[in-house]
Amino acid sequence: MKPAPFAYAAPRTVDAALALLDDDSKALAGGQSLVPIMNFRLARPARLVDLNRVDGLAYLRRRAGTLRIGATTRHLTVERSALVARAWPLLRQAVRHVGHPQIRARGTIGGSCAHADPTAELPVALAALDARFHLRSRAGSRVVPAPEFFVSHLTTALRADELLVEIEVPALPEGARTAFVEYARTHGDWALAGVAVVVAPQHAAIVLLGAGPTPVRAAEAEAAAVAGAGNAEVAALAAALVRDPWKRALTSSLVGRALAEAGR
Ligand SMILES: Cc1cc2nc3c(=O)[nH]c(=O)nc-3n(C[C@H](O)[C@H](O)[C@H](O)COP(=O)(O)OP(=O)(O)OC[C@H]3O[C@@H](n4cnc5c(N)ncnc54)[C@H](O)[C@@H]3O)c2cc1C
Repeated sequence: MKPAPFAYAAPRTVDAALALLDDDSKALAGGQSLVPIMNFRLARPARLVDLNRVDGLAYLRRRAGTLRIGATTRHLTVERSALVARAWPLLRQAVRHVGHPQIRARGTIGGSCAHADPTAELPVALAALDARFHLRSRAGSRVVPAPEFFVSHLTTALRADELLVEIEVPALPEGARTAFVEYARTHGDWALAGVAVVVAPQHAAIVLLGAGPTPVRAAEAEAAAVAGAGNAEVAALAAALVRDPWKRALTSSLVGRALAEAGR
């Protein structure tokens, strides 16, 4: 299939990109989700605003203890970053499950979050890390926490005239251990279920993949983990959020595995 005709612009600055964004246009990042959708004519933007030549949108840096990820940073850059491996290992554990190396070489962190597929790994990991999303439009900027950014299936808080410019990830709590575990029919395929966990002496984050239209936070299971409940009980509480009995059993075992991998 071929896409419907569209105009194309390759701005060099964020301001120039924002000047072009409206209801009839779409930002193009890695193109790994948008291009197939356009080829199937499920999206027919009148104009593509290519972000690949915009200066200063692809970076990974530590600022005041937080990790700052520029929106057009490729998956592979995160996977290979020594800073990420050392201080935010959950992102490395999650990103390795995204498709295949060719997809990770093109796909971007911002694109993955803006696309908001409920079975995408990065939104789940970023929700578990309490990430905040920095958005810009011609009217100004705003910062949106993960639970408000991911609104529903393929839907985020982004407006048509807004760009996701940066993702801010707070430092992990002292002594935190993390794990990302998922089940896919074949390696590199979209996952059927999965979980990201962060566990520390007085902290637990347990976020499920494939359990709803957005990353699903297992708050009751987190509270039980902090209160000292055993892994089987914590896993059962998390899995109770899943409606399908087969997927519930799968989720329970994935959560159990993730907690064990995180050394709990
Ligand atoms: C065969 C295959 C397998 C895949 N497997 C997986 C997988 O297992 N897990 C997974 O998570 N993903 C998977 N993907 C998708 C891949 O990770 C994509 O890279 C990702 O979903 C989108 O990122 P992108 O940079 O390619 O975005 P694009 O395709 O360029 O854009 C996606 C959407 O986000 C919007 N957008 C992009 N950047 C911004 C921005 N900065 N601000 C506002 N809006 C923006 C676009 O307008 C578009 O609507 C797979 C893709 C393919 C082709």
